[in-house]
Amino acid sequence: MRDYAAEITDLQAKMEGRDVRLVITRADFFAAVASPAWRPGVLGYADVALNGIIGDSDYKLRCFVCSEPWAFDRPPCVMVLMEIGALGIERGESLIAAICPHCIYDEDGFQAAIERFFGASHHVLTESDQVGHA
Ligand SMILES: [Zn+2]
Repeated sequence: MRDYAAEITDLQAKMEGRDVRLVITRADFFAAVASPAWRPGVLGYADVALNGIIGDSDYKLRCFVCSEPWAFDRPPCVMVLMEIGALGIERGESLIAAICPHCIYDEDGFQAAIERFFGASHHVLTESDQVGHA
């Protein structure tokens, strides 16, 4: 099983103090899965999230905004597809997160989550409404 927490820690270490270009797309689950580039990652994310919800794993994925763990009454609702390019990173990285139904209209919370996640880098954020190619 992928260890998203370790991947995020590694990625944050690579980005710290660097100029980072971000392209972030918020998309519903099926729009994200319909993109061949994102499909494996999104399905993998869904599998790990579901294992945490049904108790097959102690590893819980959480809402990108409020950090509450996924549950049947708090499922991943909107996917957050992040393409990350940074000086000093040879190829772009991508990262998938999701937002719960309680947070989908919390724009301040979303921006705060971006700052919390990418705060140690000098990031330039572009939001796209088209599911791109990771
Ligand atoms: Zn939430």
